[in-house]
Amino acid sequence: MNSFRFCVPTDIRFGEGQISCLPEELGKYGKNVLLVYGGGSIKRSGLYDTIQELLKDFNLFELSGIEPNPKITSVRKGVALCREHSIDVILAVGGGSCIDASKNIACGAYYDGDPWDLVIDRSKMTKALPIAVVLTICATGSEMNCGAVISNEETHEKLEIAGDILYPALSVCDPTYLYTLPARQTAAGTADIMSHVFEQYFQPYDGAYLTDRFCESVLKTCIHYAPIALAEPDNYEARSNLMWSSTIGLNHLLTVGKGGAWSCHAMEHELSAYYDITHGVGLAIVTPAWMRYVLCDRTEARFAMYARNVWGITEPDDRAAAEQGIARTEEFFQSLGLPSTLREVGIGPEKFEEMAAEAVRTSGIATRSYYHLQPEDVVKIYESCLG
Ligand code: NAP
Ligand code: FE
Repeated sequence: MNSFRFCVPTDIRFGEGQISCLPEELGKYGKNVLLVYGGGSIKRSGLYDTIQELLKDFNLFELSGIEPNPKITSVRKGVALCREHSIDVILAVGGGSCIDASKNIACGAYYDGDPWDLVIDRSKMTKALPIAVVLTICATGSEMNCGAVISNEETHEKLEIAGDILYPALSVCDPTYLYTLPARQTAAGTADIMSHVFEQYFQPYDGAYLTDRFCESVLKTCIHYAPIALAEPDNYEARSNLMWSSTIGLNHLLTVGKGGAWSCHAMEHELSAYYDITHGVGLAIVTPAWMRYVLCDRTEARFAMYARNVWGITEPDDRAAAEQGIARTEEFFQSLGLPSTLREVGIGPEKFEEMAAEAVRTSGIATRSYYHLQPEDVVKIYESCLG
């Protein structure tokens, strides 16, 4: 196991009704709150009214309309609001998109320049406003990590910023808020959670036995509960287990003792940067293709371990077991109703080379991933996803 530092300062309040802590917790920072939310799901669900009532003694300012795959243009609006109203704390209500935009706003508020500069060069990030979260979709783990992914439509870039100052101070995770999630978002969120685990499980480091078992448990939890959540959207047990899987899936617990670049996220970020597709959908398409591409003599033992420990495959031959595990992964995503080819989401081969070059340029997949990928490898993986 490699040496590591594990320090996650986010206060998680998990369970039905936990939102009642907001007045006391936000009050620790001041009265001026920037409420950041998306396209209106929180108004339809009634959560917006609940928050207005709970925070009636605060000065609430709003930034609505955060897009899935949040854009730097929204971040710029948020930074302007923080300055204009001397915001004390940001309250992100939604999923990864609202949380990620809030993280960039939080550090942008203390930066004398364009917040996109901080995405390109994180050394410019010095200080951030505190962030509180009310989570309404489980997928990204952004509620308990220090990363954010921001898109720049002008340059077709979708890049990650990260830094210790970006951890949310507080995240309210109430599984009942997931009851209104459409099936497509439930499925895409599950693919994202599972992809985060795969990215950490398939790494060049062996010997993190406990971390591997944690990973397998999260994967089995998703496989068990996602079909239940789809069949019964208000099943509390299913929603709560998926919600905690999302948080554990990317709060760094599953990386400890390992580390290295993430391949499928690097390839998917280009798809959503160029075509604005749903992140989890892109991952469901790319992941089985990546698994097949990187399966070789060196990697087959770990893929066989995955197949046996997660899917219960009993095949004794490692290569055959690995292939069965990959097939089960693909079938599972299909069973959730997720697309399995790029054509299904309207993507053809036109930009493959451009996207492949960017995926390699903006990540460590050529040098630090489980199986090193050059641009020509990424093109082949995209091609095998065409359908
Ligand atoms: P999201 O983009 O935040 O939300 C997706 C959609 O779900 C929105 O249209 C939203 O509608 C809707 N929605 C959310 N909660 C709902 C509810 N309870 N009921 C009904 N509809 C609801 O989804 P996400 O998957 O959490 O975030 C995706 C973004 O995070 C991508 O940009 C991805 O690249 C990034 N990401 C970040 C990390 C990280 O660690 N920071 C990791 C992986 C991915 P409204 O807009 O109307 O609310
Ligand atoms: Fe992700």
